[in-house]
Amino acid sequence: AAARPIARATDQQKLELLKRVECFIFDCDGVIWLGDKVIDGVPETLDMLRGMGKRVFFVTNNSTKSRAGYMAKFQSLGLNVQAEEIYSSSYAAAAYLESINFDKKVYVVGEAGILEELQLKGIHHLGGPADADKRVTLRSGEFMEHDAEVGAVVVGFDRHINYYKIQYATLCIRENPGCLFIATNRDAVTHLTDAQEWAGNGSMVGAIAGSTKREPTVVGKPSDFMLRNICARLGLRPQQICMVGDRLDTDIMFGKNGGLNTALVLSGVTTEEVLNSPGNTVVPDLVLPKLPDLLSVREAAVVA
Ligand code: PLP
Ligand code: CA
Repeated sequence: AAARPIARATDQQKLELLKRVECFIFDCDGVIWLGDKVIDGVPETLDMLRGMGKRVFFVTNNSTKSRAGYMAKFQSLGLNVQAEEIYSSSYAAAAYLESINFDKKVYVVGEAGILEELQLKGIHHLGGPADADKRVTLRSGEFMEHDAEVGAVVVGFDRHINYYKIQYATLCIRENPGCLFIATNRDAVTHLTDAQEWAGNGSMVGAIAGSTKREPTVVGKPSDFMLRNICARLGLRPQQICMVGDRLDTDIMFGKNGGLNTALVLSGVTTEEVLNSPGNTVVPDLVLPKLPDLLSVREAAVVA
């Protein structure tokens, strides 16, 4: 077991990391930005890493936007990134279905990001925002029809989830034992405002798991699918990659599962108290108060 408390990284440790790692995979919320605000010093840190010839890659479990939607967000925050450097859990859902040559229809509980990514892969879909205002009356005899061609239900974060969508998704899965149940992620809570933690996609996935007694295939962090898909894309060995994130149960777990280097930042959801609590078994290789703390070795790294 690692010594407690787990120390923050020294400059020496940062330099060693920069030497052995070719590519940094960054979680987004809590690492790059907090909600709609870029974290101070992040643009300079990304410039430093690119200047050293490092590759960067951005991964988010937030399925509400597509990769194009995130591209626009990066640009609006003044961050210069390439489309191929972005990977969202909305895209993971579409990539997963493509990887198994899925050729039926998808019922979506979720927002526009998932629909846009399915669309790009030519996967037929229904539900999502179109069902936001649908209601059930629950009058005597009410019977809900569902499309028998649905072969997968994808559940992502949905601020307009309602009983209609839950019942529709339940029917698709319950009436067709072969129907896939896919979750973009299962984050328990999410930081929609900085004032409070809000119910995350775990709550939406839990609704469908509860009514169908089925467990979903998760395609976002910390899933094997996402890890293998990203590593194949990068064409690097796990030891050449460092996963940087603010969550132990998704980001750091994801990195450790794949044998990647791992760095935890304390600028998001994980406090030093949680990191060092006796119940925590997920220990990152490095701890940084925030990503821009890497700037402390800027000069030394250039010389090295
Ligand atoms: N899902 C939703 C709906 C969110 O709002 C967030 C963070 O804001 C996340 C997931 C987690 O995103 P990330 O993986 O970038 O930390
Ligand atoms: Ca995060």
